[in-house]
Amino acid sequence: MHNQSLVPAQLIVGPTAQTQSHVEMLLQKNFCAQAREGATGCFCTTCRKIKNRQHHGIVWISPEKDYSVDDVDIIFDRIRFALDPDQHFFFVLDNVSTLNAATANRLLKVLEEPPLGYHFILLTSNAETLLPTIVSRCLVTELGYGNSGTKDVRMHPLASYFFDARKRHDLLGFEVALKDQALNDTQSTELVHLMMAYLVSLLRTASGAGYERVVRAIQFLNDALKRPPQSGSADLFWKYLFLHFPELV
Ligand SMILES: [Zn+2]
Repeated sequence: MHNQSLVPAQLIVGPTAQTQSHVEMLLQKNFCAQAREGATGCFCTTCRKIKNRQHHGIVWISPEKDYSVDDVDIIFDRIRFALDPDQHFFFVLDNVSTLNAATANRLLKVLEEPPLGYHFILLTSNAETLLPTIVSRCLVTELGYGNSGTKDVRMHPLASYFFDARKRHDLLGFEVALKDQALNDTQSTELVHLMMAYLVSLLRTASGAGYERVVRAIQFLNDALKRPPQSGSADLFWKYLFLHFPELV
């Protein structure tokens, strides 16, 4: 199964609350079988430890001010220990936009050749100040919309059928896009999260009846994620969403 958390390095860009809950979800899916099955609100011991930042397989680095060399050296101290072949260890680096040239270059050393089993998740609300060499080492996920230049979920080949009024009732076209995209269960859940993030961003400017419609659409997707697609059922999940998605206009 495609497991996004297992790439060596990734950068998650978005508003702090969203990046935090996204990284928790990725970590829960890695460490907890129930969360992997789609239990988004899992409260088992493992998931609680992840949320409380007490999990033994994760180190969170959250400097109060800018990153110092000592903050980055936490990584170098830990990776001296080789992991078993099936072990995974995660570093979560908060607010990496406060890396300066020296600390970023030190971090780059480990991102360029991450030791086996070690994973790096970098979080920021602003990717524009990051060294391009760091960004290029990472799988980049952008959450939340509204900044110019960020990827727009409305342009996604499948999501566009929910947000483009001209495509809203084109079931045939939707089915073709569904086949082309061939999303698995994990990718489907992630796309729904992105669609919700986009809808939440609409609330800032929506008012009156438009506001109500957006809220209904968010609730609809949120409810859908309580029964997320299991492996092999992503097609049915998407068809259900498309047929029952509340109208936005
Ligand atoms: Zn759990």
